[in-house]
Amino acid sequence: MSNDVHQRSITIGGVSAEELVNTYGTPLYAYDTTVIRNKAHAFIDAFKEEEINFQVAYASKAFSTVAMVQLAEQLGLSLDVVSGGELYTAKKAGFPMEKVHFHGNNKSLKEIKEAIELGIGCFVVDNFHELSLLSSESKRQGKVAPVLLRVTPGVEAHTHAYISTGQEDSKFGFDLQAGQAKRAAVEVLEDDSLHLLGLHCHIGSQIFETDGFIEAIDVLYSHLQNWKQTLSYEAEVVNTGGGFGIRYTEDDQPLDPSVFVKTIVKAVKDASERLGMAIPEIWIEPGRSIVGEAGSTIYTIGSEKVIENVRHYLSVDGGMSDNIRPALYDAKYDAALAHQATPDNEQVTYAIAGKACESGDMLIDAITLPKAKSGDLLIVYSTGAYGYSMASNYNRLAKPAVVFAEGGKHQLVVKRETYEDLVKNDLSLQSLD
Ligand SMILES: *Cc1c(COP(=O)(O)O)cnc(C)c1O
Repeated sequence: MSNDVHQRSITIGGVSAEELVNTYGTPLYAYDTTVIRNKAHAFIDAFKEEEINFQVAYASKAFSTVAMVQLAEQLGLSLDVVSGGELYTAKKAGFPMEKVHFHGNNKSLKEIKEAIELGIGCFVVDNFHELSLLSSESKRQGKVAPVLLRVTPGVEAHTHAYISTGQEDSKFGFDLQAGQAKRAAVEVLEDDSLHLLGLHCHIGSQIFETDGFIEAIDVLYSHLQNWKQTLSYEAEVVNTGGGFGIRYTEDDQPLDPSVFVKTIVKAVKDASERLGMAIPEIWIEPGRSIVGEAGSTIYTIGSEKVIENVRHYLSVDGGMSDNIRPALYDAKYDAALAHQATPDNEQVTYAIAGKACESGDMLIDAITLPKAKSGDLLIVYSTGAYGYSMASNYNRLAKPAVVFAEGGKHQLVVKRETYEDLVKNDLSLQSLD
């Protein structure tokens, strides 16, 4: 991906945006898979340098498709799923089930049953209701389910309030301070059909600092110390979740993956040594940071509306149906025109609007671009995470195609939806009498 203004045309994975659009149309999600490889390697290599047992589990909710899950396997990643649908995608992709971790605060009995049958690597158990479903179902199947307990360490990552999940008042996980987590640990330890791997926490998303992880690990270990003394229990696995920040716009200054990994490893090693415990396996769960910057959305610019001295709207052929994040989180994005004009070209500040029938369907409030016209291609950057995966058919807009590009070659990985796809589950009206 390059957006040098002196360059004539923007490329993704070595393929020009025009070529991708001529082949697949717009709107189009286009991933430079080299970026995905580099991100995965950055996390994995940092762990390897630490000579520690680890798993880097890609949080597939960020972008789950068969091809993406297959790429994750190639890259040596484990996989987080949060639903039967994501689990099914992993199965379809041929992903090794022992490297699948199942999350979620309301797993259904059906989902639990399927996951035990498939022999997944770990249930990240969120609450007592799930614990009892998991226990009875794994007994019924004559299996032993591996369990991480998700806990809320009471740490709030410095991030948008909607995406902070580690604070005590959260729908996720067992409370540590009030003793829920310890009660859950006792239940698991006394249950022959469950095996307690250790603890899990996830303190938030789009995190730009390491101190939240250090604090969370400190809190986990203050409880692990108590569990060692009172339950003779030591964790085999400590999972510190995901949430590593990425660059959406120039205002974002993300840390290198290796900085997070080294900080987490050091905090876990230090605490284990201080408390005389064996160093556990460390698991992390990057989602956004694996795929976010790798993906761009290419739109065709359509209508234009100028309100003198107020705003200059450009509308594109997609919007909140393919990227809900601006409407949902007030998320900011950067963009460029595919045909970069000459540097002396007139610059205009535009508001980029989506095509859905909602005033709130604005992709970018204000961005200065070379003067654009209807038919030009607009590329919105860093849409690789929570774009396609959060897409909807609002206004009966068909979901865009997804393409992977790398080294000048490209491959369709999700077909564009058709009108027929939109009505395929619809049934005709019948008389009720
Ligand atoms: C969403 C989520 C992640 C991934 O978060 P990112 O911000 O995409 O890295 C990891 N773990 C859990 C439990 C999550 O809910």
